[in-house]
Amino acid sequence: MAAELTRNHVNGLARPQVNGNHSLSERIQIVDEEKSFTSDLGTQIERWGLRDSGFSYDIVAVFGSQSTGKSTLLNRLFGTSFDVMDETKRQQTTKGIWMCRGQNMNVMVMDVEGTDGRERGEDQDFERKSALFSLASSEVLLINLWEHQVGLYQGANMGLLKTVLEVNLGLFGKKAQDGTSGRTLLLFVIRDHIGQTPLANLQATLAADIQRIWDSLSKPKELELAQLGDYFDLAFTALPHKILVPDRFEAEVKRLRSRFVDKQDPDYVFKPAYHKRIPADGVAFYMENIWEQVQTNKDLDLPTQQELLAQFRCDEISAVALAEFNEQAKSQKRPIEAGKVVDGLGEMMRSWRKMALEQYDRDASRYHQGVYKRKRGDLLTSIDATLSPLFLGQLKNLHKSCLSTFKQDILGGLKGEDYDFAVVVSKAKTKSEHRFTEGAKEAVVDPESIHWSWEEELELLKEEVKSVADQCRKDETKKMINAIERNFKKQTSESVEVALHKAAPNMWDSILTIFTETLQRTEAAYLTKARSFNCTDEENTLALATLRRRAWLALRAKIDEQTAEAVILGKLRAHFEERFRYDEHGVPRVWQPGDDIDGVFKKAKDDTLDLIPLYSKIKPVDSSLEYILPDDASSAAADSSGSSEEYDFNASLTVLSDTKAFDITNKFRKDADAYYVEAKRSTVSSIAH
Ligand code: GDP
Ligand code: MG
Repeated sequence: MAAELTRNHVNGLARPQVNGNHSLSERIQIVDEEKSFTSDLGTQIERWGLRDSGFSYDIVAVFGSQSTGKSTLLNRLFGTSFDVMDETKRQQTTKGIWMCRGQNMNVMVMDVEGTDGRERGEDQDFERKSALFSLASSEVLLINLWEHQVGLYQGANMGLLKTVLEVNLGLFGKKAQDGTSGRTLLLFVIRDHIGQTPLANLQATLAADIQRIWDSLSKPKELELAQLGDYFDLAFTALPHKILVPDRFEAEVKRLRSRFVDKQDPDYVFKPAYHKRIPADGVAFYMENIWEQVQTNKDLDLPTQQELLAQFRCDEISAVALAEFNEQAKSQKRPIEAGKVVDGLGEMMRSWRKMALEQYDRDASRYHQGVYKRKRGDLLTSIDATLSPLFLGQLKNLHKSCLSTFKQDILGGLKGEDYDFAVVVSKAKTKSEHRFTEGAKEAVVDPESIHWSWEEELELLKEEVKSVADQCRKDETKKMINAIERNFKKQTSESVEVALHKAAPNMWDSILTIFTETLQRTEAAYLTKARSFNCTDEENTLALATLRRRAWLALRAKIDEQTAEAVILGKLRAHFEERFRYDEHGVPRVWQPGDDIDGVFKKAKDDTLDLIPLYSKIKPVDSSLEYILPDDASSAAADSSGSSEEYDFNASLTVLSDTKAFDITNKFRKDADAYYVEAKRSTVSSIAH
């Protein structure tokens, strides 16, 4: 019935407020009649407010024959509420192991209920198991017995003691040499002490008895020399008869109680050496495992149990820390994936990581050190596996952003006329690399580790910056060459046109002089500008070759334009007209009969026909003025027009081919003949009038 009540409480049907007074005095049956372990101990420890107490708690258990006032004593000492046998009914209490929290103290108290199997010849099994269980977890084991039982070796008590000692050897035997964690205080409480025999005598008897039992134990070979004192401290106390001298009983219980609560008491029982070093939040798991081992009759290997506990708990603690961490890390996943450079990402990541590790360390460092450290490494690996993509994403985003800022800076810097290309580029480059480096350094989570390096990404950025700068320089150079070319055309176009129109015998001398002089100025202009572009010698050579070729092509285009059939015929006609229709003073001739039309006509015609060979070939009178296009300018690469053929400079010196010249000559003759006929007619008509 009581068990049912407790279960309901714990399962939360009408759960009182946690840490309210009520929950502090709750009790729990950790092992029931069926010998199965409760699944609610962890929750109960939390409800008692002990879960986070680390090592600052104690465990005490009791051992002794049935109905020797054990539960009564525990309730008096610790303010607990264990069932006490009802005197009037002499009813047997339920079998099992119960636990309460001591009032106003961080103590878990275990009460073992059970039939006295030894006397009844039944269920020694449970007794042995509960002893094992108690020893594996308790710091102090109260051994409760009547005064009159002292010295009765054959009695049930001695059997129990023997069980305790045997069990202890099995549990802690191997560990006693190196550690203190196997040490336990056996506190004998002699009940109904009448006082005739002084405590000192009873104590001596018990000590001798227990020593004798120890000696008689069949110990494993490696523990043959083990001493009782290696594992146990013994303490003795006596309590007066509860019914006969209740006042003195209460007074002594009060004194005994102070040994459990008052750390200043010289006989304070919870010495650090007795602590089993199971953190409070691991007690439930540990006890459950111990009980399972006990149940299945496996050899109880406590170090292994502690390691198992550590693995379980460190995993749990790590999972909690990791879950919180992941929640935080998730917040920046989107922005990073969307290409954003997250301000202060490194600081955030470092703080999430630090928080998770601190949380883990706080709770897990109390457990088995090897396991704790190993799991810490695992945790760190998981954390970094989450942070690493954020870090790499940030680097990539930074890279993109710095590159695009670099482009913008260059475009901005190249506005207007008054800029130095090299300065603009180097400023933008320094700025971009600086920004990347600062941003990357900020994002580093652990500078000690090679996993957070960004130098490679910086190299990539530098390469791209360089190629952008190169492209820009090429574009700029091209632009500049185009401008220079336009300028060249502007400067030469008119004078070439005039010279071609005048068609003086040294026509080509003037044209080539204009051409070479302008070209020289143009080359100088290029070299001045190119200096700020940091162009290589090779690029300069190429650019100059391009310029020369384009200049020449421009000149040739101009010449072609001016010598196109219609244009040149016009020029010839004008030349002829000037000589045929006007006299040497520029006065129009009015032909009179008898005028030497034929003579004038012939002279004007021959003069004009002489121009055709002059136009046909670019050939200065002064041969030193001849221009020769350098070979590199002739070759294809220098040409932006895309043609890949070698430019035939020599061929370009011919303006009119022979056929063309012949053709033009014929056409001109016809024109001239028409003028002649017209002139003849005009004299006829003047006669006719
Ligand atoms: P347990 O079975 O060892 O837990 O014993 P209980 O605490 O249930 O007590 C068994 C009976 O002994 C009850 O009737 C108690 O009233 C009685 N009792 C408790 N303490 C003492 C004591 O110090 N002396 C005597 N004579 N009886 C006690
Ligand atoms: Mg009891």
